[in-house]
Amino acid sequence: MENQKSTNNLIAGFSEEGTFQKRLRSTKGSNVYICVDLQGIIRFLDGPVVHYLGYKNEQLMGKSLASYVAVEDLASYDSLLNNSNDRAEFRLMRADGSLFYGEVFVYDIYDDEENHAGYCFRIYDITSRMREIFRLAEQEERFKAIVDKTRDLILIFRGREILYANAVALNKLGFTMPQLKSLDYYQLFSEEDQERIEEFDLVLRDNQLSNWSFEAAVKTASGKVLQCEIDIKSIHYQGAQAFVALFHDVTSYKIATNELISARHEAESANRIKSDFLAMMSHEIRTPMNGVIGMTSLLLNTNLSNEQRDYTETIKVSGECLVEIINDILDFSKIESGRLELEEVPFELQACIEDTLDLFALKAMEKGLDLLYLIEPDVAPVLLGDSNRLRQILVNLVSNAIKFTSSGEVFISVQQIRQLAEYTELRFVVRDTGIGIDNSKLPHIFEAFTQADNSTTRKFGGTGLGLAITKRLVHLMRGDLWAESELQKGSTFFFTINVKHSSEVKPKLHIKGNLPRLKDQVVLIVDDNETNRQILKLHFESWGMKVLLSASGAEALTIMKEVDEYPVIAVFDMQMPGMDGIELAEIFKSDELLSKIPLILLSSTGDLERIPQNLFLSRLSKPVKLKLLFDEVLNIISELTRKTRMNEAAFTLDQGLGQRLPLKILIAEDNLVNQKLAISLLNMMGYRVDSVMNGKEVLDILSQKDFDIIFMDIQMPEMNGIEATIKIFETIPVEKQPLVIAITANAMVGDREKCLEVGMVDYMAKPIKIAELQRMIEKWGAERLRQRNGTVL
Ligand code: ADP
Repeated sequence: MENQKSTNNLIAGFSEEGTFQKRLRSTKGSNVYICVDLQGIIRFLDGPVVHYLGYKNEQLMGKSLASYVAVEDLASYDSLLNNSNDRAEFRLMRADGSLFYGEVFVYDIYDDEENHAGYCFRIYDITSRMREIFRLAEQEERFKAIVDKTRDLILIFRGREILYANAVALNKLGFTMPQLKSLDYYQLFSEEDQERIEEFDLVLRDNQLSNWSFEAAVKTASGKVLQCEIDIKSIHYQGAQAFVALFHDVTSYKIATNELISARHEAESANRIKSDFLAMMSHEIRTPMNGVIGMTSLLLNTNLSNEQRDYTETIKVSGECLVEIINDILDFSKIESGRLELEEVPFELQACIEDTLDLFALKAMEKGLDLLYLIEPDVAPVLLGDSNRLRQILVNLVSNAIKFTSSGEVFISVQQIRQLAEYTELRFVVRDTGIGIDNSKLPHIFEAFTQADNSTTRKFGGTGLGLAITKRLVHLMRGDLWAESELQKGSTFFFTINVKHSSEVKPKLHIKGNLPRLKDQVVLIVDDNETNRQILKLHFESWGMKVLLSASGAEALTIMKEVDEYPVIAVFDMQMPGMDGIELAEIFKSDELLSKIPLILLSSTGDLERIPQNLFLSRLSKPVKLKLLFDEVLNIISELTRKTRMNEAAFTLDQGLGQRLPLKILIAEDNLVNQKLAISLLNMMGYRVDSVMNGKEVLDILSQKDFDIIFMDIQMPEMNGIEATIKIFETIPVEKQPLVIAITANAMVGDREKCLEVGMVDYMAKPIKIAELQRMIEKWGAERLRQRNGTVL
């Protein structure tokens, strides 16, 4: 027993203060002293008893210490009393019922006669240490429960050594723990995966990442392979960095997916074989059908009785119908078998739409329908794509629209939705005022061989393939097709496509608009169809013109009474309720002032013959082609200005023009007579002029000298006027660029358009007329001076 000597004389300490007590007090600290007699009854207490145990000394004195020891720890307590241990840990019950953990040292106590009188316990408080130990034990237990319950395999490894594996891992991998421990961790993986896993490990080990997930094939003891999703995380384990790996076995899931994929492939390939077969069949049927139709046509050219002719025509019509159906099936099966590839070539959208409408113009006229279209101004005029297939889409939709509409209009519009880096998304709308489609049927009309209303099939014909093909074509163009409809009101079909930009081609003038010649000129439009009025308005406005709109002849006449400025041109629709276009034109012609306005008539193709020749300057058939309308308007207005100019008899040459509008003028003209004429006319106006013979010389002289105005002949040797103008604008900085006025031999509208397109400001027809030349100088000279006084020059 330790310190036996020093405690020997302490028996008196039970009742009175001895040296030991004094020493105790001086060493105080965190120890508690409890002394008991041989019966275990508490006889002496010291230290922070109240603080640790919550009892006052008096409460404990005379009580058995064993009654305060936790029942489970009585054995430890006893081991101290029977001298088998001089150190033990046991727990004491606190006054509040909680447990106090003590590390206890025991000393024997002797009385004065050296008889064993009892025991003194020196008790350290280890409560907080023990609590932590219990907490860890509990945590460990919880962790173990999780690790053993999970279905995932859990391994802990360091380097290539496996340190731990949960029961699931042992079970699934088929190894014992010692076997695993002797194994190289990488051996668990297939050879292809090992390299990859080594890379992951390096990344993790370098602390570049704290966790990593990947898929790998894991080998079991029996050689079976498990497909696993593996999560690896860096942890601190047994005093050093290690990794915990969670293997989630997805073998059965993978097998199921693979089966599904191969089932899908099989189904697809079966479908493709079916579609291939259909495509081949349709193709094979088409060949003899062409023979049938061809021969019937020949037969119709022979002498037939009326009855025979009737039968033969029926054969021909039925044959054509059959070919149409076969064509549909051919298309459909081609798309289904993935054999249809789209072209990617530049095409003009407007031409594509107009071609489509041409096909239906007659049909629309027969049914009395208005067939209209509008391409919004921001849509690029030239697209890169498959125009034939786009036309096919439009033909399908427009043919349905016309088929299912008995009165009103069919309207096509195109709008740009958005512009991405590579593609432009366009939205097409085909709207009709026909019978409409029941909303419950709407989603199904795009399915193959489906028609909204079977009763309409007999009336209207068709296979129900049109929209299915259309939808697939639209998808091939990276877009979508959908419809909205109201019964008896009409249907609207929308589709989008994504086309590549074609930047090489410049927009045509009739699309780009805003010509000085047309600017602010007034046009009167008379049409009962609201859509058409709006379309025409948009076009005229895009050319810079001012528009007067009226919905009827009567309204137009009222407007004419009120206007300040008469229109320079008027466009009438032919078919209007009440007063038609011809009647309105006759009234205009009978009025002194109105009769001067040139008139353009819009009518359906078939009507053209019965229109009196003298009423209209121009007649355009509907659907109106934008380019034609533009050319007509430009022609009429140019003609008009020329006439007014010629009528201005009181022309006087302005000799002071050169002083009033000082300009540096260049004439480029290869014909010496014309050149001389122009030079002497300009001299008479007070200008000194330079002259050259061709485009090349223009560029040469421009590199040495600046000019305000160049009169440029279009046809010149070496380099013509158009090329020279393009070069001028490409090479000369904006602030030094001259105004270029074309001199054209033949005053064709197309030529003029070309001149303006390359950046010329105006044009004059040969032979050069003095009045026109002077007017050009006045107009463009003034413009030039304005520029010069502005910021640019
Ligand atoms: P089909 O070639 O027989 O016309 P589609 O696939 O083109 O077949 O059209 C399917 C059905 O959708 C048509 O039979 C018709 O019932 C309906 N449908 C299509 N377009 C229109 C429309 N513009 N107005 C009303 N019904 C329409």
